[in-house]
Amino acid sequence: MKFADVVINRPVEGPFSYSVPDELGEQVKVGSCVQVSFGPRNLTGYVVGLSPKCDIKNIKPITSVLDRAPLIDEKMLELTKWISDYYYSSWGEAISAAVPAVIKRTMKSKRRAKKEEPEEDEIRFIDGSDKHLSPNPEQKHALDSIKKCIDKKKHEVFLLHGVTGSGKTEVYLQSIAHALEKGRSSIILVPEISLTPQTVARFRARFGDKIAVLHSRLLGSRRASEWQRIFSGEAQIVVGARSAIFAPLKNLGLVVVDEEHETSYKQMDVPRYNARDVAIKRAELSNAVVILGSATPSLESFYAARKGRYTLVELPERIDARLLPEVNIIDMRDELTKTKRFPIFSLPLKNWIEKDVREDKQVILFLNRRGFSTFISCRKCGYVLSCKRCNVSLTYHFHTKKLTCHHCSYRQDPVDICPQCNSSYVKYWGTGTEKVESELHRFFPSARIARMDTDSTHKRGTHEKVLTNFKNHKIDILVGTQMIAKGLDFPKVTLVGVVSADTALNLPDFRSAERTFNLLTQVAGRAGRGDLGGRVIIQTYTPGHYAIQSAKTHDYNNFYAKEISFRKELDLPPFSHMVSLTFRGRKEEKVLKVANSLKDKLEKRNRSKDVHIVGPAPAPISRMKGTFRWNLFLKSDKVENITGLLRNVLGTRKREGGVIITIDVEPC
Ligand code: ADP
Ligand code: ZN
Ligand code: ZN
Repeated sequence: MKFADVVINRPVEGPFSYSVPDELGEQVKVGSCVQVSFGPRNLTGYVVGLSPKCDIKNIKPITSVLDRAPLIDEKMLELTKWISDYYYSSWGEAISAAVPAVIKRTMKSKRRAKKEEPEEDEIRFIDGSDKHLSPNPEQKHALDSIKKCIDKKKHEVFLLHGVTGSGKTEVYLQSIAHALEKGRSSIILVPEISLTPQTVARFRARFGDKIAVLHSRLLGSRRASEWQRIFSGEAQIVVGARSAIFAPLKNLGLVVVDEEHETSYKQMDVPRYNARDVAIKRAELSNAVVILGSATPSLESFYAARKGRYTLVELPERIDARLLPEVNIIDMRDELTKTKRFPIFSLPLKNWIEKDVREDKQVILFLNRRGFSTFISCRKCGYVLSCKRCNVSLTYHFHTKKLTCHHCSYRQDPVDICPQCNSSYVKYWGTGTEKVESELHRFFPSARIARMDTDSTHKRGTHEKVLTNFKNHKIDILVGTQMIAKGLDFPKVTLVGVVSADTALNLPDFRSAERTFNLLTQVAGRAGRGDLGGRVIIQTYTPGHYAIQSAKTHDYNNFYAKEISFRKELDLPPFSHMVSLTFRGRKEEKVLKVANSLKDKLEKRNRSKDVHIVGPAPAPISRMKGTFRWNLFLKSDKVENITGLLRNVLGTRKREGGVIITIDVEPC
């Protein structure tokens, strides 16, 4: 083969043709990683095809081959091609996402990974059993259907719907074991590995060294060596976050996507793929089975199951018929009327915390806002202290004694005098986790209290330390953001308090009700995991909302029924597919002009009217880091209608008159 089709990690279409010099003839294969000259630069590219002839004159040669054997096989090429088509990236960008950066660096420098870096502080709970548990009838039913598909090498997507503690993980474990017996490998995706140490521990306990863990915080050389263990076939089971879906396993038989509804499966950079949907595609290409597991399936997945595209399997009860915790909704409007102020803790919440701490039980308090005061304004003139570069208000952080922007690195000293009217009526409002922590100290001086959020855990190892201390009951009350909502299983936690259920509900996003229901259900799942029973207290100013009411009764079906009719009425996903375009620039008029003119062009080309174009509208944070941001939303019953139209009108252009355009297919 004398000629190669090469794609590169840039937003350009391709593939581009290069000749294969004789001395490289043996080494250049489909899937090879090569160096090519592209314009004035030398870039890394991937060979996606070979051919004996080529019509192009003055063709340039491949400069060098970077890998000894191709890292990308035919199936991975097909998968990345699909990603690039579906998520509107170049093929080279999609391949690049599939090969970890550390592997690419190692190849380029033609050296092996540098000296071994110190090992992670990995939390090792010992509560994972190494033996299979005998499945209950529902688990058995699920396992029978899953095993049958694995045996027949039949691609099928199972939606495993069960509350926390209903035995989903045990179904994953036994399905993986079955695949392994049949000589087939498995991938288990978890939303964020550092937040699910107990799950990982259970997989390790059952499968030992057959497992490779692709930790999101793994250091470079460890990541490279785990990848090598997978590539060589030594590890046949991979547990990891989003990008683990590209693990170079052979003979894939099963992909598990735990907490399939989680937004962390969506990659925010190009290619903006959703690992759940990539998982389904990868499994389809390998005739593998997919298990999507969740207590609160995404509307998309549950709808697909209702329509028969996925197979719904339900685990309706907790193991040992352990009861779900009782959920009490506290109407904070009443508290407001009674106390004439906005209390952080309602009386019932305060009483329950007091009682449980006294009885030597544990409490989790949840609030999805960091910092101390989340809003600072002048009571005289109404001035709000906001970031100089973003239009969001600043948050006061007690620990650093600074006013901080949560969207950029802006910080300033706190103020007592209003910058606008010079009055001294500046007031600090709003409640973040730091204030909750400090109020807890005030009300419960003898309790041992800890806080867990990204402020308290950015130092390596602190996160694990807090969890271990909580596990060993050296902490009575744990306060945190959604970091503590997931996956934790602490039997002595009898009370979970949601300080405010309204933060997520008030976001300007059609998924805000879904997010709220998911979060409340998940947080509630942290209570009553042992024999002591459990109680959840949700404080809210909108107690009647169906997301909150459904969380109270643990009723997914009720929530789904309400939400799906709302989506249908407004033709929102899953009834339509959506692509969002974001326009960013320093000058707002320019941003708007580019957005409007692109909209016009799209409307003109949209002859069959199968794409519905909404906007331009300011982005939820309409100015960030000094740039203005506007959105266009494109809806259609097929993603291909939208991306086809965009390819026609916009092509690979990412910039117009200084305005940057980003395209997000199925944003979340
Ligand atoms: P989920 O993943 O749905 O939260 P798990 O699989 O973690 O549920 O199960 C909850 C608890 O019940 C775990 O402690 C698990 O070991 C136990 N368990 C699961 N299946 C069984 C079973 N068939 N028999 C006994 N205990 C089980
Ligand atoms: Zn003022
Ligand atoms: Zn800012």
